[in-house]
Amino acid sequence: MRMRQFQRGELSLPTHVRDFNRAAVLQRLFRGGPMSRADLARHIGLTKVTVSALISDLVDEGVVRELGPDKRPGTPGKRPTLVALCEDQRRIVAVDLTRDGHLSGATMTLTGESMDHSRLDALLPLGDAGVDALTRFCRDLIDRARVPVLGVGVSTPGVVTGDGTIVKAPKRDWFDLDLQSVLEDRLRLPVTVANDANCAALGEFAFGETDGDSVLSILVGDGIGGGLVIGGSLVHGSTSAAGEIAHITATTAGDGAPWGEPTLCACGRRGCLETLLSEPLLRAALDGRGDAEREAWLTAVGERLGAVLAPVVAVLDVSDIVISGPEDLLGGPLVDAARATLADHVWPSMNHLPNLGLSRLKDRAPLVGAGVLVLSSTLGIP
Ligand SMILES: [Zn+2]
Repeated sequence: MRMRQFQRGELSLPTHVRDFNRAAVLQRLFRGGPMSRADLARHIGLTKVTVSALISDLVDEGVVRELGPDKRPGTPGKRPTLVALCEDQRRIVAVDLTRDGHLSGATMTLTGESMDHSRLDALLPLGDAGVDALTRFCRDLIDRARVPVLGVGVSTPGVVTGDGTIVKAPKRDWFDLDLQSVLEDRLRLPVTVANDANCAALGEFAFGETDGDSVLSILVGDGIGGGLVIGGSLVHGSTSAAGEIAHITATTAGDGAPWGEPTLCACGRRGCLETLLSEPLLRAALDGRGDAEREAWLTAVGERLGAVLAPVVAVLDVSDIVISGPEDLLGGPLVDAARATLADHVWPSMNHLPNLGLSRLKDRAPLVGAGVLVLSSTLGIP
């Protein structure tokens, strides 16, 4: 009989405790905005002396700054000094190549405000030439930041491991490519690379309108991507494919769907969710149909999506499911039907129904999430 070895936590060294406390301070400032050292200490459960020492280091590093006395009403007596994340001394660089190999990038402040957005409309070349073009694009953004850059986050299609190796991204002709290390060597900065749907999930968690701390993000474009954040952390899964729902069988022969028999998927099987829900296939299917037929078709697709999502909700108990893609297709009957079917398929007294809706970040979610990768890897935020 095989005895599985349980992972044991490493010994808690003083430096670990300090890093943990430092991340807690930064997270609190990121989520709660400016506050006094005493309020920070109270919220986190640390002594004011410990918080003051951490803040002092963070001010020296240009990550936190003092704002001056608290002038808000209701703070009588000696007014404490407020501290906040620093907006102008450090930047992060975010790059997204979701859109069919078109590069989109931005420098961002530590509070996630996008500055200096830029887009390279020329198609990214395949293979090594694509890595070279990506490097030049990152260098250009770093130069334009004008202040020190903490790190670079890259959102890419394909299967990506937790340490930034692209297992496969066939549309980019990248296979077993340690993109994170290659870019770190070339840019001389910390780089974090992740799958675009995972980045979108992080973006929705940190800057979208999600309620809880577990988010399933579904990107609908040329195909379907899925990413998962639980407890504020990305979930990669055993083969780096957690959240990928594209090739779950969603329709079978004789299920009464308006499309009749299930069609062949790019994966070689029939009836996958991606055969119903990718943007090009859905647009082609709706072409030339009247309003009533169009609504019936979109409703039927939404019902299949809701049915696919039900076991995911039952297993993971996610708080939010956020769909991004073409709103003219996904909004209205499709998302309404998905929500209703999901409610029908799970047992409400066991599973709290998640919020299911369209992304407020829209197609910016992967780019914003690439910025969050840097906040997370360098500062422990969010
Ligand atoms: Zn398939």
